Amino acid sequence: MNDKTHTPTEPPLLEVRNLRKTFGGRGKTPGAIVAVNDISFTLEEGECLAVVGESGSGKSTLARTLLRLVDADSGAVLYRGDDILRFSHADMQRQRRYLQMVFQDPYASLHPRRTVAEIISEPWQIHAGVVEKSARKARIDALLAEVNLPQHFSSYYPNQLSGGQRQRVAIARALALEPKILILDEPVSALDVSVQAQVIKVLMSLQERRGLAYIFISHDLPLVRLVANKVAVMNKGAFVEAGPTASVFENPRHEYTKSLLASSPMAAEQH
Ligand code: ADP
Ligand code: MG
Repeated sequence: MNDKTHTPTEPPLLEVRNLRKTFGGRGKTPGAIVAVNDISFTLEEGECLAVVGESGSGKSTLARTLLRLVDADSGAVLYRGDDILRFSHADMQRQRRYLQMVFQDPYASLHPRRTVAEIISEPWQIHAGVVEKSARKARIDALLAEVNLPQHFSSYYPNQLSGGQRQRVAIARALALEPKILILDEPVSALDVSVQAQVIKVLMSLQERRGLAYIFISHDLPLVRLVANKVAVMNKGAFVEAGPTASVFENPRHEYTKSLLASSPMAAEQH
C-alpha cells in the first residue's frame, strides 16, 4: 500500500551507457572521426538536459545515434531499461513513438506539398492505433492549439508559414505520437531572434503540461541556462563536464567549459 521502500525502483526513462560512434576510416585508419566518444548519461521524466558545445563537437550525431538514425558502434541506449540499440527493426519502429526529434531547419524538415494537417497526421499512418481515424481532426486542432497556432492553419502549406510557425508545426508533428522524450537539435537557431522566444515559450509550457523530457541541443548558453535543469558540455565527441545547470555555469571545472562561458554573451552581462 503506502510502502514506498518496498517498491522496486523503476529504471530511468533513458539511460545511455558508453555510447560510441565513429565515421569513415578504412584500412589503416579505422574510425577516423570519433563523433561520439564514450558518452553516458541518464534522463528522467520532466527533465531538460542541454547538450552544449561548438559546431562539430558531435551533438547532432549523438542525437541521431540515440534514435538509430545512424548506427552506434557500441554502447547501450536503455529506454525504461530496454536497450533500443538491440531492438529489431519492427520493435524499433514501435519504440520510436516515444522518442521524437525536432530538427534545426524547419524549412527542410516539412514536406512542401503537404498541408499542415497532413504533416501532423503523417505519423498516424505508421502508428495507426494511436489516434482513431474519427478523432484525428479534433486531435490536429488540439495539437495546433498546444503550439499556439490557430485551427485554420491546418489547410496551409509550409510556404505560407513563417519560420517560427513552421517550427511549431514540426513540434506538433513530434507530439502526434504522444512521445515521452523530445530531442531538440538547435530548435531555434535557424529562427529570427524575435520569434525564438515564442517557440521556447511553447516548448517550456509543453514540458510542464505533459511532463516531457527534453534533450536540448544548443550553443546558446543564456538560453540553456533558462530552460535546462542539467547540462552536458561536449567537446570532440565526449562529455567533458556534466551536472546541474546552475553549478556548471557558476562553477565550471573544465577548461573547455570555462572558455565556452567566457565567449558567450552571458559573460558580458555578468561583469
Ligand atoms: P555538431 O552537431 O556538434 O555540430 P556533428 O555531430 O554534426 O557535430 O559532427 C561531429 C563530427 O562528425 C564532425 O567532425 C562531422 O564532420 C562528423 N560527421 C557527422 N556526420 C557525418 C557523416 N555522416 N559522415 C562523416 N562524418 C560525419
Ligand atoms: Mg549539429
